[in-house]
Amino acid sequence: MAQAAFIGLGNMGGPMAANLAAAGHRVAAFDLAPALRAAAVSAGCIGAESARAAVAGADVVVTMLPAGKHVRAVWAEIAPHVKKGALMIDSSTVDVESARAAHAIAAEHGLASVDAPVSGGVGGAKAGTLTFMCGGADGAFAAARPFLEKMGKKVVHCGGAGAGQAAKICNNMILGATMIATAEAFVLGEKLGLSHQALFDVASTSSGQSWSLTSYCPVPGPVPASPANNGYKPGFAAALMLKDLKLAQEAAAAAGATIPLGGAAAQLYALFNAAGHAGDDFSGIVNFLRGEAAGG
Ligand code: NAD
Repeated sequence: MAQAAFIGLGNMGGPMAANLAAAGHRVAAFDLAPALRAAAVSAGCIGAESARAAVAGADVVVTMLPAGKHVRAVWAEIAPHVKKGALMIDSSTVDVESARAAHAIAAEHGLASVDAPVSGGVGGAKAGTLTFMCGGADGAFAAARPFLEKMGKKVVHCGGAGAGQAAKICNNMILGATMIATAEAFVLGEKLGLSHQALFDVASTSSGQSWSLTSYCPVPGPVPASPANNGYKPGFAAALMLKDLKLAQEAAAAAGATIPLGGAAAQLYALFNAAGHAGDDFSGIVNFLRGEAAGG
């Protein structure tokens, strides 16, 4: 079994590190928050006093941090101390430019690297059922796959450096825009005297079908497991949806792509967040569109 380092033990990283340890790897774990280090030790990891101490002797290093600036800073700090030929994996959701910068830091120090953001949320991190979207060279991806399979159920190689982040950003832009379109349809249907169930029964088997409708329906009733039936508790918080939509905006500006609906979705989620709903599930935007200030 391999020697691993895991840096960033928050809502996602904590359970992911625990799953890596449960698979039999020796996992040295570090977070700035001492309580999270202690929780990781209880979950079978070995506590490290610094990121640098965590990576000493590691064959594979995984980071799960808030944003691109954290990934760049941590990778620049640890890369000189990671043993030559080891593998670096970043699973945070970050901008494509930061992902590519992190790959460059690894390459400078003779390290293989993969950007491997996830979908599946905290539930998927705990259950070990995440989907990993990976960017990097073939050899680096092949080396990363067995580790990622211990934390997820699907591992996709999307292309070269940054391709995993690109796939994540594009997917979540589809998600944000389709959720708003689905929510608007329910609000319009209400005004037209249409029941939620009737609209669901038609659209879920017609061309209006999408994951936002059939797996995550924004109104209570048709899909019992959706957050709409649970007071719009996340699920996937509106703050994280806004983060991902902003990343799509940045990427589009840098690459010269035109994404007007992605832009509108980012604006609407910014308003929803600013109105006090950052901690609500992102499907709660249906109440905002209906004009209800209280959201849920
Ligand atoms: P989180 O805020 O719970 O955890 C991030 C952790 O990183 C914190 O515990 C923080 O103390 C730690 N940290 C920050 N700087 C550090 C440093 N320099 N050294 C060591 N530790 C440091 O966030 P999260 O929900 O676990 O999300 C992590 C990443 O995964 C984010 O990029 C997020 O966008 C992405 N993501 C989250 C979800 C979700 O549902 N929560 C889903 C998919 C992707």
